[in-house]
This record gives sequence, structure tokens and C-alpha cells, in this order.
Amino acid sequence: MYLMRGGRGDVLYVGKSTQVRTRLLSYFRLPWPEHRHARMLRETAHIEWEPHPSEFAALLREVRLIRAHLPRYNVRSARPLDKWWVITIAKGLTPRLRVQRASAAARSRDVAQIIGPFASRRPLVDALRVLNDALGLRDCSDRIRMHVRDVAELFEEHHPAMQRTPACHRYETRRCLGPCVGATSEYEYRTQLTRAKAVLEGRDDSPQQHLVREMAVASAALSYERAGWLRDRLTALQDLESQLARVREALSRPSCVYAVPGRQGDDRLYLIRHGRVVAEARCADPDSVNDLQALESRATQAPSGAMVDQLDELLLVESWLRGRQGERALVADSVVGALQALACSYSSVGSSVGSSTSNGISSTSA
Ligand code: SF4
Repeated sequence: MYLMRGGRGDVLYVGKSTQVRTRLLSYFRLPWPEHRHARMLRETAHIEWEPHPSEFAALLREVRLIRAHLPRYNVRSARPLDKWWVITIAKGLTPRLRVQRASAAARSRDVAQIIGPFASRRPLVDALRVLNDALGLRDCSDRIRMHVRDVAELFEEHHPAMQRTPACHRYETRRCLGPCVGATSEYEYRTQLTRAKAVLEGRDDSPQQHLVREMAVASAALSYERAGWLRDRLTALQDLESQLARVREALSRPSCVYAVPGRQGDDRLYLIRHGRVVAEARCADPDSVNDLQALESRATQAPSGAMVDQLDELLLVESWLRGRQGERALVADSVVGALQALACSYSSVGSSVGSSTSNGISSTSA
């Protein structure tokens, strides 16, 4: 792990390599000013490096440093967040459900709630269109001005807001409550938004149930085209629900302890809660292992949604463990279980013929 700092001490770049010296020397051969790293080198006044006992430790540190410093030259390293999509609910009187890149959501100051992450955008867009139509929520641009009314004003037939025409057909076709034309109150809109949140949190399946009933009616009336259209909408909502269930499962996952064999015997234990690393301990240091055990016994409450500022860490842990089946043997329910798993991995390495990589255990230097 290495950091390149500018003249004022600002972090320009956070990098990770098993051959730091070779990597840094390679920057000197890059064409200037065409190459980004060559330009970065010109601005660099100071280089720091820190060894880490494993690839996982280095990745975790890299993610945290990038989050803390947002280095200008870390375009590539910022991409893991760019690959993922989230549903966001903005602040304001009449917020809309929106599909955004995880990186954009993490940077935004207007986001009140984030749901996700998800691997692809298209299914989310399709499902949110169905949900918005079912609950009458707006899906238009933030540039369109909203004119919600007080409840008393709803009965004023000639209220100025009612003289406006909507900017889209969704109000005319009864798929939107029409906050742009003053056809709804803030309370009514908020009620529907609360229902949408309940659907996204798996507490309400009334939109799906409604579609099932409509499908039955269409089929009974031999209106097969409409039944097929309704089935596609139902499938979109069901697909979203199965993706949301996966996210909820990751967030509500109970504590686990991940043992990572380290270089030169520097083995580490990581306490993972709700998909994120909350503490770590050096196996060679009994005090730090005891501290981790004490922390492990403390109960915590699961977050209701992905925490924006730690989304990158959630994604790192998810993709690391998903992509390495061999590492799962080193994940245990407790500190004691993780230490036992680590001991087993060493005994199996000792008894196996061949290298340590045969059982999937990595001890790569950072
Ligand atoms: S009817 Fe108005 S508020 Fe609703 S989506 Fe269309 S423009 Fe937006």
C-alpha cells in the first residue's frame, strides 16, 4: 500500500501492489503529459508506503483511505462503487424514487435514504416504473416545480394550482397523484411514499397482490394481451423483491469473524457486522483478541438500509467472500470458531502435498 502526497500534504493517489518498488519505478517510464500517472508523479512531493499482512487487509485499508481522502488520481480505484446501482429517496416535499450509481448517491447531499446495492440498472428502472404507477408517485425530473396543496385547499375548485396542466400524461392516466398540478396534498403524497418504502423493505406486497387480482380478471375476460402485460409488470416487481431480499440478508447477517492468514505469521481476525468490518485483531496479540471477543458479545441493531458512507466497504466484503469459496471455511460465528478454522487451515496445509494455494488460502503480501 502506498500513498502519493502533493506539496501541501494532500493525498493525490492511494495504490496497492505486491511489488511497490517496481510499480513506482514504472511511473517514471510513462509519457508526460499524456499519461495520468506521469502527471501525478510531477505533482508528487512525498511518497509513503505501509506493508499489510494480506491482500484483504490491503484492500480494506485502500477502500478506507480513498473514502477518507478522495484522491484526485484514484479514478480506477473509485470504480468499484461506479459499478453498482442503488435506489435513492431524496429529501424534500415530494421526493421520487430514483435509480442512481452508488458512487453518485454516496456523493449526493440530497439523498435521505439509499436502498441497495444492485448489479444492474435496467430491472430496477422497470420495477420502479411499476411501483410508481401503482402508488401514484412522481418520476419526473427535479426541474419540474411541484405545487402540493394544504388539505383545506383540496376543496377549492378554482385554486390557482388547479388551473395548471401537468407536464406529462401520467396524471391524466391516473398513474401519478399530480403534485405538479396541486392535485394532492403533501400528506397524501407522503402516505404513498411510506407505502413504497414498506414495499422496498419487504413489509408490504399489496402492489403485487393487486396485479395478481387484475391478471385473474383479465384472464377471466379472455383479455390475454392485458393479462400478459400485467404478468410482465408483476415479474418486474417480483424480480426486484428477490434482489432486495438478497440485500436485506446481507445487511441483517449476524456477526461473523473472518480469519485471514497473514505474511510472516501476522494472522488477523476481522469482526464483520451487517456486511462491514467493524474491528480487527492480531492473532499473535492476546489482548487484541480479548478485546475483539468483548466487542463480539455486544449486541447491535441492524441498519435499515445501506449506509452511504460505508457502501464501498460493504461491496468489498461481499465481492471478496463471494468470489473466493475457499475463504468461506475461515468464516466462523465467533472468535473461538475463527481461531479453530485458522488452525485447521494450517494443519491441512501441513498435511497436503504441494503449495499452500491448493486449499485456497492466500497469504499474498501487499
Ligand atoms: S404528473 Fe406531474 S408530478 Fe406526476 S410524473 Fe407527471 S409531471 Fe411529474
